[in-house]
Amino acid sequence: MNPSGTPNTRGLRWRLQSVPDPSGDGYGRGVLHRGDCDVPGGGWLGRRELEIALDMENVTPCRRCRPDQDAL
Ligand SMILES: [Zn+2]
Repeated sequence: MNPSGTPNTRGLRWRLQSVPDPSGDGYGRGVLHRGDCDVPGGGWLGRRELEIALDMENVTPCRRCRPDQDAL
């Protein structure tokens, strides 16, 4: 993918997946993914939306694709 081994986030996009709350109290959560994550679904975000979403307390970054690493 990237022979130099350094992160290349140019042109990268992210997705925000909505996850219903299993307790059913009406508050769902969001999970952030990189665009190339194996987990399907979600609406597309740009970098600005990524940073906003990471600040939201009901949104968590995916543990597989680690989109929070892109926002550093
Ligand atoms: Zn993911």
